[in-house]
Amino acid sequence: MDLGLKSRTALVCAASAGLGRACALALAKEGVSLTITGRDRDRLEATAEELRRLTDVRISTAAGDITTDEGRAAALLACPNPDILINNAGGPPPGDFRDFSEEDWQAALNANLLTPIALIRATLDCMITRKFGRIINITSSAVKSPIPSLGLSNTARTGLTGFVAGLSRQVARHNVTINNLLPGAFNTDRLRKTAEGTAKSSGREVDDILAERAAANPTRRVGEPEEFGAVCAFLCSAQAGYIVGQNILMDGGAFNSTM
Ligand code: NAP
Repeated sequence: MDLGLKSRTALVCAASAGLGRACALALAKEGVSLTITGRDRDRLEATAEELRRLTDVRISTAAGDITTDEGRAAALLACPNPDILINNAGGPPPGDFRDFSEEDWQAALNANLLTPIALIRATLDCMITRKFGRIINITSSAVKSPIPSLGLSNTARTGLTGFVAGLSRQVARHNVTINNLLPGAFNTDRLRKTAEGTAKSSGREVDDILAERAAANPTRRVGEPEEFGAVCAFLCSAQAGYIVGQNILMDGGAFNSTM
């Protein structure tokens, strides 16, 4: 299926690894020119080089922390007027809410609420003028089903979900759509690091924890980033203009509900 994205441009944030990289690759395979971001410049350049080898689109990089003014300025300088914006950043740390400081709360709200809003603000009006725009926010299954140790994430991401619910309906008439993609467990560095943390505190093996996690899922596995990237690319497609303000859960059916 041709997604109608050839010669479009995308800014894909936090895309040197994991889910962001998978979204970047899926878009590049559809002929979308990309700017990708990440903090570690060497890793970012290596990923850009890899994507160039796998596809034949133009790929630029903007190294920096996307949760800072400087990081966002660099990203927008490299890609001032994208057709597609993929909002992504690292998730906040786990912990007991009693231990979170004011700074912890500010950092989580900045990374997972205010940063995506700032990037939407910077890119939306050009999309409206062009009568085409696709914005995807990578959030978390925690938006639908809170994870007790991730109070920072539950809170910040739910705030973004509320914002998108309102704004997406104001701009849909311009063929600009805003949707959220909610990952459950996906096979990325982050999943492994989380398992390493659990292994440390419980004295168990990392591989046992990951195997248990997979076995508990209806699919008996965790998701692969390529699957996530493919759904992201479809949500950005010309055909997806009637999907507005949705929260697409990709968790292998882990969230147990009738609807
Ligand atoms: P990952 O494998 O750790 O990759 C994170 C990517 O983002 C890396 O390229 C990293 O590069 C970049 N990055 C992180 N913080 C950044 C920042 N402040 N500015 C710019 N780039 C940044 O993580 P992932 O699994 O893909 O997760 C992506 C998002 O999905 C996170 O918010 C995570 O909480 C959420 N999520 C993931 C899962 C899962 O199972 N994987 C489940 C639920 C939610 P640098 O470190 O070099 O910056």
